Amino acid sequence: MIRHSAAELAAALEAGETTSVALTRACLDRIAEVDGSVHAFLHVDAEGALAQAEASDARRAAGETRGPLDGIPVAVKDVLATEGLPTTCGSRILEGWVPPYDATVVTRLREAGLPILGKTNMDEFAMGSSTEHSAYGPTRNPWDLDRIPGGSGGGSAAAVAAFEAPLAVGTDTGGSIRQPGAVTGTVGVKPTYGGVSRYGLVALANSLDQAGPVTRTVLDSALLHEVIGGHDPRDSTSIDQPLPALVEAARAGASGDLTGLRVGVVTELGGEGYQPGVLARFTEALDLLVEAGAEVVEVSCPTFVHALATYYLILPAEASSNLAKFDAMRYGLRTWPEGVESPSAEEVMRATRDAGFGDEVKRRIILGTYALSSGYYDAYYGQAQKVRTLISRDFAAAFEKADVLVSPTAPTTAFRLGEKLDDPIAMYLNDLATIPANLAGVPGISVPSGLADEDGLPAGFQVLAPALADDRLYRVGAALETLLAKKWGGPLLDRAHALAEEAAR
Ligand code: GLN
Repeated sequence: MIRHSAAELAAALEAGETTSVALTRACLDRIAEVDGSVHAFLHVDAEGALAQAEASDARRAAGETRGPLDGIPVAVKDVLATEGLPTTCGSRILEGWVPPYDATVVTRLREAGLPILGKTNMDEFAMGSSTEHSAYGPTRNPWDLDRIPGGSGGGSAAAVAAFEAPLAVGTDTGGSIRQPGAVTGTVGVKPTYGGVSRYGLVALANSLDQAGPVTRTVLDSALLHEVIGGHDPRDSTSIDQPLPALVEAARAGASGDLTGLRVGVVTELGGEGYQPGVLARFTEALDLLVEAGAEVVEVSCPTFVHALATYYLILPAEASSNLAKFDAMRYGLRTWPEGVESPSAEEVMRATRDAGFGDEVKRRIILGTYALSSGYYDAYYGQAQKVRTLISRDFAAAFEKADVLVSPTAPTTAFRLGEKLDDPIAMYLNDLATIPANLAGVPGISVPSGLADEDGLPAGFQVLAPALADDRLYRVGAALETLLAKKWGGPLLDRAHALAEEAAR
C-alpha cells in the first residue's frame, strides 16, 4: 500500500478498498520501521494523524469528502508553523517551541482532510543543500544511507523516497525542494513566487521563499499544489488570481504529446561542473521531448553566471534581519551566560544566540549584516538587487524564444555525508541551476531523469516556466515521466524501497 502514489490511494479510498486510518497506520508503521536509519522526521504525530484519519473516514461514510486528497497522509517540513506540534526549523534556538497557530499551508492541508504525519528534518533555518546543518542530526538518503538526501528539505524528500509518506510539503528558497528531489529520485515543485502563501512559514529570505509539493509522481504534485496554493489575504505578496488548472495539465501531459512546445536549453545551466552521467540523462530526456513533438532551441542567459553570487548577498541580508527576532526574550531558547550574576538582556541574548545557532547560520548572519551595513550597502546589497533585475530580464528574453526552459536540476548525484560539510562554497554550488528561478520568482519542477552514475543514483531534470504558468511545469513534467517510464521500465523508486528495507534490518 505504501508504495502507491497519492492518486492511486485516493482512487482506492473512493472505491472503498481501504480507509484513511489503514493508510495512515501503514505510513506510521513504515516510519517506525525505517526512520531510525533514514531520520526524515523530527516529530511524528501518530495520535493526531490517526484522529484526522478517523475524521476523514467518517466524512467519507457520510458522503462529505472534501476533495481528492481527503484521507491521504502528508508530511510537513519543520519550517511551517503547526498549532500544537513542535516547529524547530532544525535549530536549537526553537527547540521545544510549539506554535499557537497554523501556517496557511497547514490550514489548507487540514481543511482538505490530509492527516499530518509529522514534521520533517531540514538544514537549520533552511540553510544548506544536504540536511547536515540540522541541529538534530542529518537525514540519510534512502538510496544509500551514507549519502546526503539534498537540502535544505532533505527530510521531506527522504520521507517520500523511503515510502514513509506519499506526499510532503517542502520550501524552496534557492533549490531546497528541487535539489533534494533530484538526488532522491522524487518530484519537487517550486511554485511561482506568491503562488503559495508564506503566512506561518518561518522566513529564511522573504523575497525568495516558496512552499511547494514533494511527491513521487508529477500528478501527485499537481494535486497537492492545488490544495496548498492560491490567494491568501494574510500574505501581502500572495497573488490574487486563481491558480492555473494544474491537475488538468498533468493529466494532459501524461499522454506524452508535446507537439508545438518550444523547449529552451539554457547554455549557462550545463556543461562544466556537471557530472557526465547527469548530463547524459539530461540529453536523453531532451531527445525524448523531441520525439514527443517538442522543438528544442538553445537560449543564452548570460547573467545567470552571477546568480549564485547575487543570491549569497540577498539571502544573507534578508536572513540576518529575519533571525534578529530570536532574541531569547519572547519565545524559544534562553541561555544564561556562565559566571555572570545578574546578566543584562544583551548578555542573555548573546549567550542564547551563541548556543542556539549553528555555524552556517552564524556565517550568514555575519555576511548579511556586513552586506547591509551603511558603508557597504550600495556596493553589495544594492549591486545584487541590480543584477537580480538583469537575471529577470534574461528570463523574460528567453521566454520569448521558448515556452519552458530546461536544465539538469543539480550538478551531481547525491554526495557522501561529510564530503562538503567543511567547504561552504562547494555546498553552495549545488544550487547553481536552481537559484535563478528564485531570484526571478518563476516556477520550476524537478522530475527524475534516471540513474546517473556507476552507483545507480538518480538525477533530476529541471523545467522552468514563466511566472503564473505553473501549469506548463506539469504538462512537460508528466510527459517526461511517461516517456522515461518506458525507458527505465517502471518506478525508479523501487530500488530505494529495497534499500530502505535492507537498512531497517
Ligand atoms: N541550499 C540553498 C541555501 O543554502 C537553498 C536553501 C533553500 O532553498 N532553502 O541557501
